[in-house]
Amino acid sequence: MNEHTKTDGLPGLDLPAMPQVLERARPRNERMASGKIECNACPVLCQISPGKTGACDRYANHEGTLVRVDPVLFLRRGPQALAEDALPLDGSTPAQPSASGDDFFVTGVGSSTTYPDYKPAPFIVASQARGVDMVTVVTEGIFSYCSFKVKIDTDRWLGPEQANIRCKGEVVGHVTTAEYGSQMLSLGGVHHLTGGSKKEGRITVEMMQALGNKQAVDLSIDGGSQITIQAGRPPIVNGVEEQRMRVGCGSATIGIFAKQFWGQCDEVVVVDDHITGVLTEHQAGKCLDMKPSGLKVRGRKSTPGRYFQVANPGTGWGGTDIADPLSIIEGWDAAVAWPGLRLLMTSTTGEHAAWFVLDEQLVPQPAPMPPAVQRVVDRIGENCEPSMTSVMFLAGAGGSLRAGVTENPVLLTRAIKQGMVNVTCGGAPAYVWAGGGITVMVDVMRMPDHSFGTVPTPAIVAPIEFSMTMADYQALGGHADHVRSIAHALQQGAWHHDGAPTQRRDVRALPANGWPLGAPPLLG
Ligand code: SF4
Repeated sequence: MNEHTKTDGLPGLDLPAMPQVLERARPRNERMASGKIECNACPVLCQISPGKTGACDRYANHEGTLVRVDPVLFLRRGPQALAEDALPLDGSTPAQPSASGDDFFVTGVGSSTTYPDYKPAPFIVASQARGVDMVTVVTEGIFSYCSFKVKIDTDRWLGPEQANIRCKGEVVGHVTTAEYGSQMLSLGGVHHLTGGSKKEGRITVEMMQALGNKQAVDLSIDGGSQITIQAGRPPIVNGVEEQRMRVGCGSATIGIFAKQFWGQCDEVVVVDDHITGVLTEHQAGKCLDMKPSGLKVRGRKSTPGRYFQVANPGTGWGGTDIADPLSIIEGWDAAVAWPGLRLLMTSTTGEHAAWFVLDEQLVPQPAPMPPAVQRVVDRIGENCEPSMTSVMFLAGAGGSLRAGVTENPVLLTRAIKQGMVNVTCGGAPAYVWAGGGITVMVDVMRMPDHSFGTVPTPAIVAPIEFSMTMADYQALGGHADHVRSIAHALQQGAWHHDGAPTQRRDVRALPANGWPLGAPPLLG
């Protein structure tokens, strides 16, 4: 064989040296037992025996090929009946050359990943939606920087702000501030996943996976309550399932119902952990020209008819620790109050309510509540929304994942900020936070069931999709060589063959989510 060291006079071709890009790395251990395959889909690099799965149960050695065991999910719109079973992605399912982005959307759920992201994302799918050429880039992101923000609609005392939240004894998050009628929690996050002990990381990732997959999680709050929370369900606080979210604080409740109290009561106290309202002192009572009652309420007066700190927080009346509402009454001004004065005391949900009439000594005596007053109390309850647990997945996707979309990742970030890219998670609209990076937040109830997985690093695995016009994708330096048509993706799956899903499942898109293609970004 001749070895040519010279050209025959033609100028030298100085092509830049290109790295050889392997679909998979050479095995770390050359002595790996024959038949095993090394999974490259996360840094754990499991060596998987034939017929077995890796540590995360998501990848398997199927007759010598690494496969993603779950089907990749496609969202479907339109009247067509959906196949009950998963469909193979080996080219054997009937071709759908007319498939469009108006009725199919490929999600990241089950799509596989292309860790360590120097390879293009597993699905880069071209389709036409509303007559426009679109591209959807899809992957299963491996997120260490992620957490859940949980909103619990309740008056009950859950625990002090900043208190640690524990799961199976390990700290997995903390209580943050309260919002109107709700208590906010932060669960998970990189410091619990990777910053503590191995056990803390393992329990945190298990708790996060369960919460994201809409399962119930038991938690205890230091110095506070035991809670059971589940996305889309009422919270259970100290064993009692919550029913109602308060209609407003005590002051708001006074404002809303002042006219309905007028003529039925001489005084109304709405007991609340944050602001307790006193009708005749309140601006609403003044506007109705109500006669002062002489009532003196405990607590720190904020503004007329609005009191802070009437009691400690708790699971009693209005989120306070009181069982006897009269305990917050300091007394009556004898020069102003009068025997026979009619007093209603209620909580902000109407779950607690009592009716009193002052006797000759100006002492409130319990009495049967008049039907007209009971109707207003019932209306307070009717205006309360059902108590709910809302679970928002919050993740930083500004890392290497972007390299699966474009060779120049900052262009993707900029395109997202300019509203050119619709970011979704399992087809659910993701709110994109302001500022640098790609920090997204999504309601897990809008995502398909079982969207979340884990890897033992530990980290959460979650779907993410970037949809944009083909022209914009080309402009941001997308991996044009790896674009496949939607018809191809429906028949053959991912562009790669190592660790790809072998089946697809079609599920109905949630109408409330909107359709991710052919429309501006849905949120943020
Ligand atoms: S944990 Fe899962 S993704 Fe990671 S190497 Fe093992 S099988 Fe692959």
